[in-house]
Amino acid sequence: MMELQFTLVSPERSLCQNLAVRQVTLPGCEGQIQILPDHIDFVSTLMTGVFYYTLMDGKQHFGALSTGFVEVRQNRVRVFAHTAERAEDIDHARAVNAQRRAEEKLQGNGSARKYELKLQRALVRQQASRAAQQ
Ligand code: ATP
Repeated sequence: MMELQFTLVSPERSLCQNLAVRQVTLPGCEGQIQILPDHIDFVSTLMTGVFYYTLMDGKQHFGALSTGFVEVRQNRVRVFAHTAERAEDIDHARAVNAQRRAEEKLQGNGSARKYELKLQRALVRQQASRAAQQ
């Protein structure tokens, strides 16, 4: 079976290095981007969202990332993200607290872009950690 080599790094951690996978699905700016073997080479920006990939044995793994980009070249998929976590490493309660704090800040000062971005990350982390529990 054909495979992709998947690498995902953030400044703080490397989540995968040349991992053999069947597919990778990423949060693109205009919707989900699914990459299968033999995908055309491309580069694209990514938004804050849930990603998942399928190992060669069929197991799916979920995670959350916040903005970055992806490069696909000759069956190699490389993702560079500002933050990224595996679903099983996400502290759900921390994300719920971060959501609450960001919503409070946004109510006090509706223009704070920083808190909109924090809120997005908190919601996506909760989504990824729930997806992994299904
Ligand atoms: P918080 O207010 O909870 O720190 P944040 O959105 O400000 O949330 P970030 O600046 O995006 O946090 O991330 C800082 C670091 O903490 C990164 O390494 C990120 O992967 C990690 N991180 C953030 N939230 C969580 C979480 N809920 N579970 C696990 N790791 C997290």
